Amino acid sequence: MLPDYTDYFLVKKREIAMDFQAILEEIHKEVQPVISHGKVAGYIPKLAAVPLEKFGMAVQTLDGDLFTVGDAAENFSIQSISKAYSLTLALKFIGEDRLWQRVGREPSGNPFNSLVQLEYENGIPRNPFINAGALVIVDIIISNSKNPSQTILDFVRQRSNNPEIDFDADVAASEKKTGFRNSALANFLKSYANLENSVDSVLNTYFLQCSLSMNCIDLTKSFLMFANHGLSPWSGKQILSESHAKRINSLMLTCGTYDAVGDFVYRVGLPGKSGIGGGIAAFIPGKLSVCVWSPGLNSHGNSLAGTLALELFTTKTGMSIF
Ligand code: GLU
Repeated sequence: MLPDYTDYFLVKKREIAMDFQAILEEIHKEVQPVISHGKVAGYIPKLAAVPLEKFGMAVQTLDGDLFTVGDAAENFSIQSISKAYSLTLALKFIGEDRLWQRVGREPSGNPFNSLVQLEYENGIPRNPFINAGALVIVDIIISNSKNPSQTILDFVRQRSNNPEIDFDADVAASEKKTGFRNSALANFLKSYANLENSVDSVLNTYFLQCSLSMNCIDLTKSFLMFANHGLSPWSGKQILSESHAKRINSLMLTCGTYDAVGDFVYRVGLPGKSGIGGGIAAFIPGKLSVCVWSPGLNSHGNSLAGTLALELFTTKTGMSIF
């Protein structure tokens, strides 16, 4: 007897018939009551001034279709989302063996800027996405490139297919003025000999990297390389080996959304990276990338309405990695 393929065909049909635009519009309406309940990041003065009511979302499929809603084309400060790019670069520069000698790959379970954890783990940050880990990653980029900030910028511009993307010097300066915790983390790392370059050069490059100003469309375009097993569709270049893409994607799933990662993955079911500018970029391998921006954060630093929007997206579409 022939096997029954009915369910398979039903699933396929559901995906082909998906009206992403209508779904984004529904989500936009449904998150409205939640948007004002978040709090903008107060410790970087420039970010504290961003209007709470902004909301944008974009979906970019591997078939080349783009869907947007709200403020999807408005630039914002991507902050820690940039750590997905810098990890990609560092991995390309020095490979896995050397990289994992200096940074761990476990969820932190602690706030992203915790000093305590770094001390009791002897200067080896728990993962590359908490601030201490990201500082080590920036140190690797500095050691391996003539002009590190330009290297980061060129990489992001190429992956997003947008030469206009730039750092926001005001945001970087604003963070530098109040960046006491990051400065403490960098000094700590130096005391454990886990920085090769000067504390100042690492901090300056880190603040610039975090200040990258991008919109949801740029982010979904660049995150297609993670959804596409390391191949960036815009350049046709294999940016990461399939194996490295698998590893970075796994880290985004387990460590990409701060110490709320368990709750985030439970609700959303996708790997992704968030930033305290209110952006979250996520993706479904083999299918699409999706980015949302809403500056109001929850107590862990993830966008409050953004997390809800992604939860609604995977619920309404029935698409996640599970
Ligand atoms: N530049 C921010 C900081 O270092 C990034 C934090 C984030 O987005 O998680 O505090």
